[in-house]
Amino acid sequence: MLVADILKTKGNAIETVKMEQSLRITTQTLASRNIGALVVTNGEGGLCGIISERDIIRAIAENGAAAMESNVKAFMTANVVTCTAADTIVEVMGRMTQGRFRHMPIVDGDQLVGIISIGDVVKHRIAETEFEVEAMRGYIASG
Ligand code: AMP
Repeated sequence: MLVADILKTKGNAIETVKMEQSLRITTQTLASRNIGALVVTNGEGGLCGIISERDIIRAIAENGAAAMESNVKAFMTANVVTCTAADTIVEVMGRMTQGRFRHMPIVDGDQLVGIISIGDVVKHRIAETEFEVEAMRGYIASG
């Protein structure tokens, strides 16, 4: 199964925040969209980082409530690991496990085309495994 299969069911919606916006706005967007991370964009709308709830926890731990007025750039991860629609779900799962993060933007060249979360990966892996189990059962029963 490919990242493209997840994109087909999930669509291309990507929640973003600009790097000069505040952690307050970021936190409000995460809460209202019920998601765990936002892709950070520069003035031209290009990918320049990712900020997740974990980064906000770190900001609060270091600076208390005042952290809410800091800008995203100060706490985002700039070195973003991305994937493409042609990557397999297994490859993406491996990169997430190795990097210890739960979100990955999907790119096509320098275009952002979606975002995949560990929740999407697990959901599709379970569906794939169930399909394989059913196929094996059918094969055994027919023999
Ligand atoms: P998460 O598990 O997605 O909440 O993120 C945990 C940490 O990894 C945070 O510091 C994020 O900024 C960072 N992070 C999340 N996704 C990525 C990614 N695709 N590439 C690099 N770092 C990431």
